Amino acid sequence: MALYGIPVLVLKEGTQRTYGREALRSNILAAKVIAEILRTSLGPRGLDKMLVDSFGDVTITNDGATILKEMEVQHPAAKLLVEVAKAQDAEVGDGTTSAVVLAGTLLDRAETLLEENIHPTTIIEGYKKALAFALQELDKMGVPVNVEDDNELKKVAWTSISSKYIGTGEASEKLLEMAVKAVKTVAEKKPDGTYEVRLDDIKIEKKKGGSLLDSRLVHGIVLDKEVVHPGMPKRVENAFIVLLDAPLEVEKPEITAKINITSPEQIKAFLEEEARILKEMVDRIYEVAKKRIEQEGFKLGENAGIVVITQKGIDEVAQHFLAKKGIMAVRRVKRSDLEKLERATGARIVSSVRDLSPEDLGFAGLVEERKVGNDKMIFIERCKNPKAVTILLRGANDMLLDEAERNLQDALHVLRNVLRKPKIVPGGGAVEVELAMKLREYARKVGGKEQLAIEAYADALEEIPMILAESAGMDALQTLMDLRKLHAEGKKFAGIDVINARIADDMLKINVIEPILVKEQVLKSATEAATTILKIDDVIAAAPTKK
Ligand code: ADP
Repeated sequence: MALYGIPVLVLKEGTQRTYGREALRSNILAAKVIAEILRTSLGPRGLDKMLVDSFGDVTITNDGATILKEMEVQHPAAKLLVEVAKAQDAEVGDGTTSAVVLAGTLLDRAETLLEENIHPTTIIEGYKKALAFALQELDKMGVPVNVEDDNELKKVAWTSISSKYIGTGEASEKLLEMAVKAVKTVAEKKPDGTYEVRLDDIKIEKKKGGSLLDSRLVHGIVLDKEVVHPGMPKRVENAFIVLLDAPLEVEKPEITAKINITSPEQIKAFLEEEARILKEMVDRIYEVAKKRIEQEGFKLGENAGIVVITQKGIDEVAQHFLAKKGIMAVRRVKRSDLEKLERATGARIVSSVRDLSPEDLGFAGLVEERKVGNDKMIFIERCKNPKAVTILLRGANDMLLDEAERNLQDALHVLRNVLRKPKIVPGGGAVEVELAMKLREYARKVGGKEQLAIEAYADALEEIPMILAESAGMDALQTLMDLRKLHAEGKKFAGIDVINARIADDMLKINVIEPILVKEQVLKSATEAATTILKIDDVIAAAPTKK
């Protein structure tokens, strides 16, 4: 803009601005592109994506959350959708693909309404009403689960594993069994009868070798480490545990200090001084631990022992002193594992041996180094806090182990969600068809232009069963028509049995179920994403900073 020849720059040079319908159209398009990518990955017959990162590393997966994590998305609206998926993943750990795909179809239908000159605000209002109504109806559809019954829980978790797991049968059964036991062990009952589950209390440790059937649930913490020194005990009963996040080493000066050593005696004196400091550290650990052990009524060396676990290194000389005192030590343990040990053993992580006091020590009934396949691992069992478990996964190769871990994570999330809200709903598109039907009745009552938006919401929901039908090689439109008919006749659990490419009268009967919490969250996240994008009518983008 130029007033009397004087240029007025309001925005920084290079800033790009799109607004009005153009901004909306470009945002919708970007979000739809993301949804389109995930579309074919939905469901148990979903196809894989091959992702190649900038280092050339390849990931092959059909897991929505993983795909989005690996993709480097540029467009701001597309990024928003990725954020929604992340939030969905963080909240319930499942339903990411569904949420993104639904957001995409909601936007697609909104676009049609926009073309018919319906204002974005009307669409947003209609979508919000549709969501509130759908959530109510969903709750009515929910079937209560008896969470005290392990078999019922296993059945519920089964969908999550069977839809993605590369192998089925015994190995899945094994994973489920471990998942249910692990979740049950760490679950805490709340006054209202539901449970809270901290999935952080369940550690998953992978060890290459053997088969998935060799995996097992350990009551305690397993570390992929070995005892640092051959002279140390490999088994300590009634172990009093020191957790250190500092190295057991003599700190080297930060700046390069020049020390003039002129004689062999001086070298000797220097080394002796180092050894003295290290010995003092070990002695201090020993004394403090001994004090605590006696306080607890044990006898050090007779019926109790000391275990030192550090996040950093342990000097060879220190190892030697520790071994001489009969102390077991493990080094270079991940911070996150140290924190898990803190919770499990009741220890407190200390940053310097000088600050160590008797109450900082934790307790475990047994700490032992055991052979797992060709490697050694440390087992910390019978911990003070029994709500600490490790699932030790075994498998022939890394890819198999990673896949098994992802499946296990999914099963754990499903179980946690059911324990949090003990209701399930049918999968395979049954919920979507039923809700769409109910929404259309509701839309007629609402009337006006919002009616169109609510109907668009219903259409968008029905896209999910259509995609599932397509993935099974069925005629999508015909399948939807058949399903609509069944639902109109009152068969509210009728859906698509994707594996056998046919319609099932009752998805619950064939065990295709989902925690109600996941479906609730899918509806909420998708609607939130779509309405957020519809609300934007101005995109002001700064010029990219030059590198
Ligand atoms: P998400 O990331 O959304 O969990 P999935 O790829 O796991 O994506 O697909 C979930 C959808 O697939 C849900 O609608 C679920 O009901 C459906 N589904 C899963 N297993 C089956 C099955 N065996 N038959 C029919 N539908 C299934």
